[in-house]
Amino acid sequence: MNKEQYTKISKELKFPTGAFIGGKFVDAMSGKTAATVNPATGELIANYASCGVEDVEKAVKIARDLFEKGTWRTMHPTERKKILLKFAKLVEENTVELAVLESIDSGKPIYECLNTDLPETVHCIEWHSEYADKRYDEMSPSGLGALGLINYEAIGVVACVMPWNFPLMTAAWKIAPALAEGNSVIVKPAGITTLSMLKLAELGACAGFPEGVLQVITGSGSVVGKALGIHNDIDIISFTGSTDIGRDFLRYSADSNLKKIVLELGGKSPFVVLNDVADLSDAVENAMAASFWNMGQNCTANSRIILPNNRKAEFIEMMVKSLDNWKIGDPLDPQFKLGSMVSEAHFNTVMKYIEQGKKEAKLVTGGEPLKIGSGLFIPPTIFTDMKNDATIIREEIFGPVTAVMGVDSDEEAIALANDTQYGLHASLFTNDLNKAIHYSRLIKAGTVAVNVFCEGDITTPFGGYKLSGFGGRDNAKHAHEQYTEIKSTYIKLNI
Ligand code: NAP
Ligand code: MG
Repeated sequence: MNKEQYTKISKELKFPTGAFIGGKFVDAMSGKTAATVNPATGELIANYASCGVEDVEKAVKIARDLFEKGTWRTMHPTERKKILLKFAKLVEENTVELAVLESIDSGKPIYECLNTDLPETVHCIEWHSEYADKRYDEMSPSGLGALGLINYEAIGVVACVMPWNFPLMTAAWKIAPALAEGNSVIVKPAGITTLSMLKLAELGACAGFPEGVLQVITGSGSVVGKALGIHNDIDIISFTGSTDIGRDFLRYSADSNLKKIVLELGGKSPFVVLNDVADLSDAVENAMAASFWNMGQNCTANSRIILPNNRKAEFIEMMVKSLDNWKIGDPLDPQFKLGSMVSEAHFNTVMKYIEQGKKEAKLVTGGEPLKIGSGLFIPPTIFTDMKNDATIIREEIFGPVTAVMGVDSDEEAIALANDTQYGLHASLFTNDLNKAIHYSRLIKAGTVAVNVFCEGDITTPFGGYKLSGFGGRDNAKHAHEQYTEIKSTYIKLNI
């Protein structure tokens, strides 16, 4: 399909705008609404329910009652799996509509929504659905006189507070394992990208989720997010977002029922090329994706490129040449790999960092916003020749901005890679297997990708060290662990 066809679909899209509470789309009890706009055009897409504390109270009560009643929790895991797989199928069947909705609400290119966000969302739901009836519980080595059963029980009411950069994919990462384990799940999507989550809830209902298993409370973080955080009847919050708000969630928990908090936070990840890499072309291609994919609005963006001093000029030249592969423009035009920044506020934050970068580093390319309609477009921006204490090296920018740094040895490269308060991700390029193993062990990050930029796959757990978060992991069987409690039953045997 072409731009005109996607634009036509975007005008005809049908999607809910109410909060999804107790199996129905409803207005906020206060009647309040909030606007969500298309950042690539500035046009209003819809007004959605802006919920308050009273809506959160209602949803949590429904979630708790359902959990205690056991409709979903005690369902045979194979039956849960079948409903979840039907959900995955419906998401797959609605790929084009969901991709267009995601694109207009967030500014993401339709190319990426169709080729990455939607297929990965479907695959993630499928994987966790399948795991529902494949995980075995354990028995302890307690000897012949006793039986020690170790069971993983659903934790209860799960609340997920979401970011805006991968709305559908992050939702799938959270809700699929939580639902597969039998929990009641409440999602608060990010205010500026609310619509695709509401559509997911609609598809969940069509798939046969019992009322109240999956609820979506739309509204602002400071009201809905906080009300979930301090609620005394929520068992766990899975939070993905900024480090500052992550700290708030720890406070909310401390001030309420000590609910479990899982934090997936920001990053300032390194992309390291060791000195044995003769042909730089593969590393350059990956460095571009690591820096600019999703307009750099990516928690694993590699925004510190570290390589031997004597290869730096060549590497930068090759990066600039490959900008042709990273064309930016109307997100609904499938020829573009880069779209709009997500909001005016975020655009301004990124531009402030770029202006700061111009004072503390040498600008290689980019650095000025592009005038494309009334959208918020920032081209790939590369800096070099700064000190390691520069703001653009220390702070997460979350935009299409990267910095290239030179070192004189592999040891120096790894030391520089680790010189950050974050620890979410790192890329490491080398042709030497011994170096790959040795240095990936030394890098303090939750994921080290060797000779590729990626976050691993659905079978590898994902999460951060240091300020990038703690408390659990997304993806793989490890994601299920965070949504369960371990129950030990010790039975004395009279034999
Ligand atoms: P954010 O400002 O922290 O917001 C995240 C969520 O928290 C949103 O739903 C937001 O609601 C809500 N929120 C805001 N203020 C709150 C408050 N006072 N109390 C409770 N909830 C509140 O983060 P963001 O700007 O959306 O996302 C960008 C950040 O997320 C980056 O730092 C990025 O690295 C991180 N991130 C991490 C991962 C990962 O897996 N590690 C993945 C993606 C993003 P509103 O939208 O309504 O304000
Ligand atoms: Mg929006």
